[in-house]
Amino acid sequence: LPDSADAVLDGLDPEQRAVATALRGPVCVLAGAGTGKTRAITHRIAYGVRAGILAPASVLAVTFTARAAGEMRGRLRQLGAGGVQARTFHSAALRQLQYFWPRAIGGEMPRLLERKVQLVAEAGARSRIRLDRNELRDVTGEIEWCKVTQTVPEDYPAVAAKTGRDVPRDPAEIARIYATYEQLKRDRGSIDFEDVLLLTVGVLQDRPDVADTVRSQYQHFVVDEYQDVSPLQQRLLELWLGGRDTLCVVGDASQTIYSFTGATPDFLLGFRTRYPEATVVKLVRDYRSTPQVVGLANGLLAQARGQAAAHRLELVSQREAGPEPSYAEYPDEPAEAAGAARRIRELMDEGVRPSEIAVLFRINAQSEVYEQALADAGVPYQLRGAERFFERPEVREAGMLLRGAARASADPAQDAGSVPEQVRAVLSSRGWASEPPTGSGAVRDRWESLAALVRLAEDFAAARPGATLADFVAELDERAGAQHAPTVEGVTLASLHAAKGLEWDAVFVVGLTEGTLPITHAKTDEQVEEERRLLYVGVTRARLHLSLSWALSRSPGGRGSRRPSRFLDGLRPGSAPRGARGAAGGAGGVERGSGGRKRRGPVLCRVCGRTLSDAGEIKLMRCEDCPSDLDEALYDRLREWRTTQARALGQPAY
Ligand code: ATP
Ligand code: MG
Repeated sequence: LPDSADAVLDGLDPEQRAVATALRGPVCVLAGAGTGKTRAITHRIAYGVRAGILAPASVLAVTFTARAAGEMRGRLRQLGAGGVQARTFHSAALRQLQYFWPRAIGGEMPRLLERKVQLVAEAGARSRIRLDRNELRDVTGEIEWCKVTQTVPEDYPAVAAKTGRDVPRDPAEIARIYATYEQLKRDRGSIDFEDVLLLTVGVLQDRPDVADTVRSQYQHFVVDEYQDVSPLQQRLLELWLGGRDTLCVVGDASQTIYSFTGATPDFLLGFRTRYPEATVVKLVRDYRSTPQVVGLANGLLAQARGQAAAHRLELVSQREAGPEPSYAEYPDEPAEAAGAARRIRELMDEGVRPSEIAVLFRINAQSEVYEQALADAGVPYQLRGAERFFERPEVREAGMLLRGAARASADPAQDAGSVPEQVRAVLSSRGWASEPPTGSGAVRDRWESLAALVRLAEDFAAARPGATLADFVAELDERAGAQHAPTVEGVTLASLHAAKGLEWDAVFVVGLTEGTLPITHAKTDEQVEEERRLLYVGVTRARLHLSLSWALSRSPGGRGSRRPSRFLDGLRPGSAPRGARGAAGGAGGVERGSGGRKRRGPVLCRVCGRTLSDAGEIKLMRCEDCPSDLDEALYDRLREWRTTQARALGQPAY
């Protein structure tokens, strides 16, 4: 523990100190990746608490993911400021809603809807609109978009037309399904994910007494990753504030990557206009990454265009020189994954811990080939972060079994063996093996969760030699309450969206081809810019080692027709700078009209737009190399978002 409030400021640079000591009035920090924004606001809260200026219970810190919230709580505890609420918008809202429901609405809070897609299908059937599988997902996505953007069913057709949305069905039909879905949900007495924020906003707006209670509890607000706040979240924040200006926000417009959910950097960029007296601090020193990684990140930003680009902040690395980022091209995806696995093994042999390594990809479907390659190379990995560890079904079940066993062994004859032995015995009675399964995917993932529990039991027994199984169960309950998950010792496999705010010693950004990053459905300039920002987020996660790779075909023996991502042009050795290739280099490596047989018109691959000449490919309407599931990519992004938020709510992942 720092021994005084002032000691909390040690280890901050002058600008970060300015943030940490500006405890009154509005504060806005605009700064690039790795400049210590999250650190500055964490120390700001701790400094305020330690100096006796902020009461811990009066502070609400909002972060983007449950994992980030957990990390912030841990850090605050270390700085002597435990007891501060650090949550996501959703979990903060859910807690308030649960608390106020009986008083503000009456009765018990409805259950959270678990099978949303099924209910949308039912709403479709009742509206006599048949939807195929893909349409069902897309319509569900549209309904979610409507809800986060506060678009009611009647307005949807007009809004969809105005905003040029890529609609999966006739907007009037979607509006009908949406209205029926809402009705069905009400009839069944359940609420969905998006309702949590909507209802909290509604209650705070309509019930001044409830709003007053919330406002008297929370006096100070801190928001991390403010560039990705949605209008609904912003509304909630304003209701919490109730006209006060005790708000500190931090963000980086160059890291806006959730616009597809309605999020916008406008609130961040307009902060000064909203609060002309605000303290605005810019941070430029990058403490996370080496000059090599920072150089690449700056190079990427230099090519950015659009609104966020106007606010880009050049980073200056504070670290010693490190290895050059590596660029690697492979003939196919399995070769790319094997290459990454090989390099990861080397890093591990050099002493890098697996938990300090991450493989980041654009869509979740890309993870499978890496799971396989890492399993083949004997490298431990985790598919998810430690997020919502105690909510995982296997961990919940294990907890129940251990509780039962603890009760059964309450008799102090206590020959049941050590705590870890008892935990192992209980788990193996349900089929858990001490050796990892050979396969990959969900089975392996479950095994890793339970192995983490066993490790926790070992650490617990080492720290508290005389403790019983019942003591361990009590420890688990306490950890679950504090969302204090055990660390899972493995390489992280995660999507670029999920990597936000995190950092690792070694980062592999994989699958960098046209069609994957930028993703095929990114068509407008703004969408392509958001894809570039995703790469910027990925690259800036690396402290030391950074590897960028791509594969020319999907599977071995493919045509090798893929091209490296345009975002690497001018950065990777031997590539011409952006624009030098001419306009034809633009949209997805498209070579329209060349090489196709003269038919009535060329048949284009529906994924990459390339002219098809092979009869088999023409029949498929896509290149053999192009993934068949890319039309699910938008759904993938939404699912990613929902999963993050579902975890924040303690719901099972979508
Ligand atoms: P992102 O935009 O990716 O969320 P950030 O601006 O929030 O990044 P942090 O995560 O707070 O950056 O900090 C990045 C890394 O630099 C962390 O490991 C942090 O501990 C370290 N760091 C930040 N400030 C300092 C400092 N003044 N001295 C030493 N290390 C620092
Ligand atoms: Mg941060």
